[in-house]
Amino acid sequence: MSHRIKARRAAAASAPPVERDEAVVSSFLSDAAHVPGGFAAGVTFPRDEAEVASLVVVATRVLAVGAQSSLTGGATPRGDVVVSTRALSTLHEPSGGYVRVGAGVPLNVLQRTLATAGLYYPPVPTFDGAFVGGTIATNAAGAATFKHGSTRRWVAAVTLVLANGDVIDVVRGETRAGAAGLFEIELTSGDVLRVPVPRYVMPDVAKLSAGYYARPEMDLIDLFIGAEGTLGIVTAATLKVIERPRRIAALVRCADDSQSVALTTLLREQATAAWSGQGPLDVAAVEYMDSRALRAVPDEAFARAGVARPPGQSVLLLIQIEVGSDEEPALTRFQSVLSGAGIQDDPHLALPGDDRGAERLFNLREAVPSSVNAIVAITKQTHPDVEKTAGDMVVPFARLAESIALYRTTLGRRGLDYAIWGHVSDGNLHPNVVPGSFDDVRRGREAILDIARAIVAMGGAPLAEHGVGRSALKQQLLRELYGDDGIEQMRAVKRALDPEWKLAPGVLFPA
Ligand SMILES: Cc1cc2nc3c(=O)[nH]c(=O)nc-3n(C[C@H](O)[C@H](O)[C@H](O)COP(=O)(O)OP(=O)(O)OC[C@H]3O[C@@H](n4cnc5c(N)ncnc54)[C@H](O)[C@@H]3O)c2cc1C
Repeated sequence: MSHRIKARRAAAASAPPVERDEAVVSSFLSDAAHVPGGFAAGVTFPRDEAEVASLVVVATRVLAVGAQSSLTGGATPRGDVVVSTRALSTLHEPSGGYVRVGAGVPLNVLQRTLATAGLYYPPVPTFDGAFVGGTIATNAAGAATFKHGSTRRWVAAVTLVLANGDVIDVVRGETRAGAAGLFEIELTSGDVLRVPVPRYVMPDVAKLSAGYYARPEMDLIDLFIGAEGTLGIVTAATLKVIERPRRIAALVRCADDSQSVALTTLLREQATAAWSGQGPLDVAAVEYMDSRALRAVPDEAFARAGVARPPGQSVLLLIQIEVGSDEEPALTRFQSVLSGAGIQDDPHLALPGDDRGAERLFNLREAVPSSVNAIVAITKQTHPDVEKTAGDMVVPFARLAESIALYRTTLGRRGLDYAIWGHVSDGNLHPNVVPGSFDDVRRGREAILDIARAIVAMGGAPLAEHGVGRSALKQQLLRELYGDDGIEQMRAVKRALDPEWKLAPGVLFPA
């Protein structure tokens, strides 16, 4: 184990052509945050590591992108050459619990390939069209992060092109910061980059996508996971995979917030017991949709799911339960937990093998963000300056009820329309403003900032899974979390690895 790693030279290649045709470039100017005003010096489609390296050597500013499903504007170019990773699509046969995969492979393609071998990659965000490289760059998390953790836990090795065009193969367990809090990267030129490990203390939460990972004696791989493309371009990775779990999906109606928090608490306890071999109810995920979010969902979406629109203040929870060859013990325990929590209605269940039934329930969950986004899009037609304004908050689970009350009072006090949904088993919810005007957006941003400060005071974080990107608001939230000194420590890391500020400039903090 060493704190030093040796870079290697990529194979010789000419830089891939940079496409400047407006018709091609225009489809790369925005990501899922839909921030207006993206512009690019061109777009290029390298086919391998060597082409990425030769491009980086000649370019002045580059932005690697995957599926551009970023919700932070991090994949929206601001004059960069866009490096589309979609041609980095090599997918090797899984072997020994690992799969080697190119950065440009979409997770749904990876998942389909793994399924043919009875395997599964657990840390999948709700949008499964995201690319492997994008999810590593953002340390993406998903519903089942509660059981399986976020992307970080599943990345065994990454290959990256550095800002000078050298390549490093970072294997978990091989390079650790020494007691001096430093990594050394020996470049092919003979120069040695000295990379200081930041000293700020990360909050103790289930998921975090808030700038650079930092722990004493940390593994070098963790510095690059979640760095949002600012320290190197991921070209390939080795991911851990598991046997495909058999799964029950269950949609449960709770009367209100407090019943949903109580039920989630019970389910978490059952899961913890199951993981230590003490019970049959192996809960992998609990997803939350509040009454306001459900009101945004059109009747047809409920009809397609075969679910009646729930009344009043009802909250829906979508629960994933992993089961062995016999699901009966889990089902029996589940029913008794529901009764214990005072749940009145029978759950909608999709048993293992009922993929159609599960898909119907997952589609209803998906209809929540897409319906809210559709409302924002309609408002944009008359108020073009309106933007999606949303939080990505995570708290230690014990503070969950308090955090939900905080979202409601802070947004309600300002008279804002809003909806809340998210990964409640992690304490990670997304309070979304539903703006009717730009003034709502402005007041919504103020509210998110107020919420963020209170969340940080609770030991939580305002940047759970979507990252920071080029969003001015999220960059401010990062500053709230770690202070000016913390940002300066991140900038020191960036300066060491990318002194010319070539890679994703303006992502995480201003260039
Ligand atoms: C409907 C919807 C649901 C979502 N649900 C979730 C969710 O449950 N959990 C979650 O975590 N996220 C979620 N997201 C956000 C998004 O899907 C994730 O952030 C995802 O990880 C982005 O992957 P991507 O391939 O689209 O990356 P992009 O959006 O293209 O890029 C994201 C960032 O990563 C950098 N990057 C991309 N590829 C590379 C690379 N090869 N090397 C270095 N840097 C790179 C980019 O420069 C950018 O800064 C959701 C988004 C949508 C639209």
